[in-house]
Amino acid sequence: MPDKLKDLIEELALANRILANEGVLDAFGHVSVRHPSDPGRYFLPRSRSPALIEPGDILEFTLDSEPVKPPKVLMYAERVIHGCIYQARPDVMAVCHHHAPAIMPFAIAGKPIMPVFHLGAAGGENMPFWDQHDEFGDTNLLVVKPEEGQSLARALGQHPAVLMNRHGATVVGSTIKELVSRSIFMCQNAEYQLRALMLGTPAPLHHGEVELAGAISRLPNVVTRTWEYWSARVGAAVSAPRRERPKAVRTVARAAPKGKGRRR
Ligand SMILES: [Zn+2]
Repeated sequence: MPDKLKDLIEELALANRILANEGVLDAFGHVSVRHPSDPGRYFLPRSRSPALIEPGDILEFTLDSEPVKPPKVLMYAERVIHGCIYQARPDVMAVCHHHAPAIMPFAIAGKPIMPVFHLGAAGGENMPFWDQHDEFGDTNLLVVKPEEGQSLARALGQHPAVLMNRHGATVVGSTIKELVSRSIFMCQNAEYQLRALMLGTPAPLHHGEVELAGAISRLPNVVTRTWEYWSARVGAAVSAPRRERPKAVRTVARAAPKGKGRRR
């Protein structure tokens, strides 16, 4: 496997552990990345809790969410979320589906998450809301059929995220790092929005502010700084590409996440 692909697989494994450590993912939820040189494929871990994901857990799928090699391990039931979004959105390179406690009140009440602080702009404005029941009636609420994944992808449209009625949210990004920061800032935004409601009626950022502030989390120095911070909190203090890191640091990056620094 070329070094570049190895780096990407390591980054995907670390993204899983970061998002688990920051309270976005728990026993459930998953993160994927599109294959960098074959847009018709993507990488997603085997069915395992994100906090435990190692590079060896990562499997390769076609956009129909079929494994490239028949696996001897279990796969995520909701992987069509990823395949259907990659089919619908050529610009999307990474996808996260989660049930984070921060966003669940909005997914349950059917109330919009709106950008209420500068970093919250990463989630965009007018976040769409998808109700599986509208098209498919009574289900167990999991997105497991291709037509369900396609319906969700249609609801997402060109937005950076979609709320899913009584289920969770799905977030997309043009890189793994953008996806991770967007997912974390979206959860922070939801927490702040809910708390601000106790003090009054919070207003969203102005349209121009969403565009300008939304660009902050994509600045190279911000990406480096946030990735290093979240990596350190998960016990894998890495920011440089794998080939540029000393061997000892690469070993730490592959080690199981430590309990220190967990918020939940
Ligand atoms: Zn789910």
